[in-house]
Amino acid sequence: MTSQGTFYIRTYGCQMNVHDSDKLANLLHHTGFSRAEDDAEADLLVINTCSIRDKAENQLYSDLGKLREWKEERPGRFLGVGGCVAQQVGDGILSRFSHVDFVFGTHNLRWVPAMLDSARQGQRRGDTKEIRSLDRFDLPQKHTLFESVTPGRAFLTVMEGCDMFCSFCIVPRTRGREISRPAEAILAEARELAQRGVREVTLLGQTVNAYGRHDLGRGRSQQAGTMAFGELLRHLDEIPGIDRIRYTSPHPLFFDEALIEAHAGLESVCPHVHLPLQSGSDLILKKMRRRYGRDRYLEIVDELREAVPSIAITTDVIVGFPGESEADFEDTLDLMKQAEFVDSFSFKYSPRPETAAADLTDQVDPKTSQDRLERLQNVQRGLTLAHHRSRVGEKVEVLIEGPSRRGGGQLRGRDRHHRLVNLLAEDPPSPSPPRSGDLVEVDLVEATPHSLIAKRSSAQQLSRAENPRGKAEPLRI
Ligand code: SF4
Repeated sequence: MTSQGTFYIRTYGCQMNVHDSDKLANLLHHTGFSRAEDDAEADLLVINTCSIRDKAENQLYSDLGKLREWKEERPGRFLGVGGCVAQQVGDGILSRFSHVDFVFGTHNLRWVPAMLDSARQGQRRGDTKEIRSLDRFDLPQKHTLFESVTPGRAFLTVMEGCDMFCSFCIVPRTRGREISRPAEAILAEARELAQRGVREVTLLGQTVNAYGRHDLGRGRSQQAGTMAFGELLRHLDEIPGIDRIRYTSPHPLFFDEALIEAHAGLESVCPHVHLPLQSGSDLILKKMRRRYGRDRYLEIVDELREAVPSIAITTDVIVGFPGESEADFEDTLDLMKQAEFVDSFSFKYSPRPETAAADLTDQVDPKTSQDRLERLQNVQRGLTLAHHRSRVGEKVEVLIEGPSRRGGGQLRGRDRHHRLVNLLAEDPPSPSPPRSGDLVEVDLVEATPHSLIAKRSSAQQLSRAENPRGKAEPLRI
């Protein structure tokens, strides 16, 4: 195939976007592009955008302003914009920024090669149509040149879209209605990933545990090829080579007995759940249209702890939602302590266009929101450190991700509880140090606010044959 040049993708936002960028990279390999190290080198630059907060959207406009020079520096360069802002603003980006060649929505990844062809003929195109059929999942298998940026780990889309319409959230507008992939397609992709050496899969969906729910409710699962989420986990657990299964993000409303049982009974389902809370106040949860109250949320936490006593629970919280009083905020702090969150992503509320909450008039003033955010993050720092301290002395399995930011030859990885573990350099250095994608057994020796520090256990690196799952022969990545 003739070389089409090089590409670089800048990705903002959630794991779904990271995964979409991977899919796009694979597609571009299939059309003859190779990956550039950075945008300075690239012939094609794609920005995969996020619109969850206005800050992310402003980031895009600022990036695009600066990229005019990049485009003019070398004739024959192309600039594309995809993702959630593109879905929302569509052709508006083309009118505002004349150096942008194409714009594609969250359902239109597979049209990028055709858009590039048009751009070569001087036609600027935008395509942000919502595609409600399963066709949008039809993307080619991994190209031989495709290199995962996360060796040993992979994302796996099980459903897309969201029908929940929380009052603050723009996602149902940018990602469209819920659609679940047939289970057989998911299982086939998981088998392919295992063959390529992937040991940890993270199942992705905007409300991932709502997988298949519309078909179940209407008695047409068989025809649609879907099933309940707990059952899907059971099938994935049987795939040789997949040692760790994670999923993100679940919605508390769809936590059922089968899912709790999957945590208790399936070896590969990791002891970690990211369970978005958003607020600990019943009044605010109602205004947010979250469809659960604090009691139900805490009940799920208890059920998970009963099933897996060591489970690590992380969450998302919004402070300063319209009408949030000091008492509402204190309810959130109180719930955080009761749930003993191991970590949380916390944000100040920012109104998003076309959402119900954007019309609420009782906005919290920015100074109060900032103060609440700092207080909440302070509480979280204490909870995280307490969790880390409680873990010192444990022997755990870590999936190596690469060099640690701490330098000094240290490596970075994640344990099964999804905690960041920094592995001290061995002294004397090992003749076969672990590589990205390897599972190693380590001793946790120290706790810091952000990570756990570990030493390699005297036990050697865990090969497939001797790892705790023991499901397959060693695979090198
Ligand atoms: S469940 Fe709510 S917060 Fe999550 S994606 Fe859907 S609308 Fe947004």
